[in-house]
Amino acid sequence: MSLGVVSKQIEHAAYTAQSENMQYISTRGQVTPVRFSDAVMTGLAADGGLLVPEQIPDVRAKLADWSSLSYHELAFEILQMYTDLPDEDLKGLISRSYAVFRHPEVTPTVKVDGLYILELFHGPTLAFKDVALQFLGNVFEYLLDKSGSNVNILTATSGDTGSAAIHGALGRRGIRVFVLYPRGRVSPVQELQMTSVLDDNIHNLAIDGDFDDCQSIVKTLFGDPNLKRSYRLGAMNSINWARVLAQIVYYFYAALQVMRRDESASVSFSVPSGNFGNIFAGFVAWQMGLPIRQLILATNENDILARFFNMGDYTADAVRPTLSPSMDIQVASNFERYLYYRVGGDTDRLRGLMGHFANTGSIRAAALPVDALRDPFQAGTADTDATLRTIQYIRNEFDYLLDPHSAVGVYVGMHQVLTEVPLVCLATAHPSKFGDAIKQATGDDLARHELIDQLAGRPTRNTELPADADAVRSYVCDHALDAD
Ligand SMILES: *Cc1c(COP(=O)(O)O)cnc(C)c1O
Repeated sequence: MSLGVVSKQIEHAAYTAQSENMQYISTRGQVTPVRFSDAVMTGLAADGGLLVPEQIPDVRAKLADWSSLSYHELAFEILQMYTDLPDEDLKGLISRSYAVFRHPEVTPTVKVDGLYILELFHGPTLAFKDVALQFLGNVFEYLLDKSGSNVNILTATSGDTGSAAIHGALGRRGIRVFVLYPRGRVSPVQELQMTSVLDDNIHNLAIDGDFDDCQSIVKTLFGDPNLKRSYRLGAMNSINWARVLAQIVYYFYAALQVMRRDESASVSFSVPSGNFGNIFAGFVAWQMGLPIRQLILATNENDILARFFNMGDYTADAVRPTLSPSMDIQVASNFERYLYYRVGGDTDRLRGLMGHFANTGSIRAAALPVDALRDPFQAGTADTDATLRTIQYIRNEFDYLLDPHSAVGVYVGMHQVLTEVPLVCLATAHPSKFGDAIKQATGDDLARHELIDQLAGRPTRNTELPADADAVRSYVCDHALDAD
């Protein structure tokens, strides 16, 4: 055996030891720590909290080396620190997940005048959620294959998660998917992307209510011990840690590229936000030591998150339908993960806060410790008019078409926050998913994509149900896969 091989093996042993040590704990502190594989299968923790890694690795010493890596290589370097999967298996999962993207760089960054646009929409359903859900679908299949068991996925969607989850699970053994979406409140294209999938393992449930109703039904069913015992329930929405994890990669990939290109020491990101899943991944990247100057949280009129960061008030309001339906959310499920860090990991305190929120519908920043992290968040809101004007302006001036979600991020990043470093705006969907908004903004039917055009006239299937946990429970019981 050559010395090189020995040292590789030692290196491998060190890595494996490090990965095996990564444990996940609940933000509410009442469950035994679990490894990545269990965290992925668990979804919501048994105490109602969300799983977070016990510690976040500091990677500052690695950044120089990482700046020349391909997307796949970088994904491996980051993911292996958080997972308990053998290196070769993890590499295989990454390569299968990103082979389906229609761009060799997976998430390319393009320059549009003085802005950088990070295009996250080259996956099968043309929204950023594919980046995480293709990976998660592969991880589920891999883990179920090892254990010989099945999983029933329950997921609420404001539009894009549903189709991305369906396409992440499609054709994979052992996975059945139940998607709850608010009837009449997702775009026609979003609905077609879900309901045109006729596979037996896919169940689309059109709920008479808004997204928060769907999300709260899912939470109720996850909290039902009988249901949990009889059927293994899993989550593909952003309460699943694997979603956040896969999203961390593109913050590194884009920042390292832009910093090299602009010879700058840091960047800012503007992130169109709803459930706080995407931007939370940026927050983890920042905690890992990626030099992010500002993390700009952009909302539409459903501005609870912006109100929190700007006015210290997190109070749920009624959901207002907008041109960016995937952000028509009030109660952001990942916000609890942020609060966990804001209270310095004090799970007792966080449990108290979440109890207070459940009772009063409100959390005040004054009740939190001063921001000892000095976190990089800034926030702003773009209303419908600002969204339309931004689409029009960027199209007329720079011949680049933004979808309405991405336009919210660009507007807030350009107009509401002063940043002295390169600004990277996340483009979270392809404009063809929201053709009506594009027509409204530009007067023309400019946004086309063959994947969307192919949907027209396809047969569809869904089931309409009231916004009632019992009705959904009995549907799920009738159609779920047995756990083993
Ligand atoms: C889901 C979604 C968002 C919001 O992301 P969060 O992680 O929920 O904050 C923004 N834009 C698009 C296109 C989406 O699909």
